[in-house]
Amino acid sequence: MSDLSDLYQEVILDHNRRPRNFGALANATRIANGHNPLCGDRLKLYLRLDGDRIADIAFEGSGCAISKASASLMTDAVKGRPIADAITLFDRFHQVVTTPIDQPIDEAAVGKLAVLAGVREYPVRVKCASLPWHTLKAALDGADEPVKTE
Ligand code: ZN
Repeated sequence: MSDLSDLYQEVILDHNRRPRNFGALANATRIANGHNPLCGDRLKLYLRLDGDRIADIAFEGSGCAISKASASLMTDAVKGRPIADAITLFDRFHQVVTTPIDQPIDEAAVGKLAVLAGVREYPVRVKCASLPWHTLKAALDGADEPVKTE
């Protein structure tokens, strides 16, 4: 299994180095801010909604490799998708990262996001990986208050 973890780590490092959908979105219809005080991760998420679809999504911010890679993977996963799909994915992802390490997870249900399943070994990192998703939820809910993981 260690080869698999190495591969997962490679994917995370790649997304951290070259984050997808990074930058501001000029024509955003929703913006939400997320902050994880435990680690210092800060995230600003831009969404352009078109009916019930996430037409475009981008993020800015600074944080650890896990939070940045998670935001990059998340934006890739939900871009162009119906809002309902994004919420389903949020639930599945949340379930994966909060499943105890000695219990099996349904990797197929979360696709590429499974690379972040390793954070289960480090409870502090679960907040880093979840921050982009909580921020997305806030943006979809239209919440004005900044999201905090604490
Ligand atoms: Zn972090």
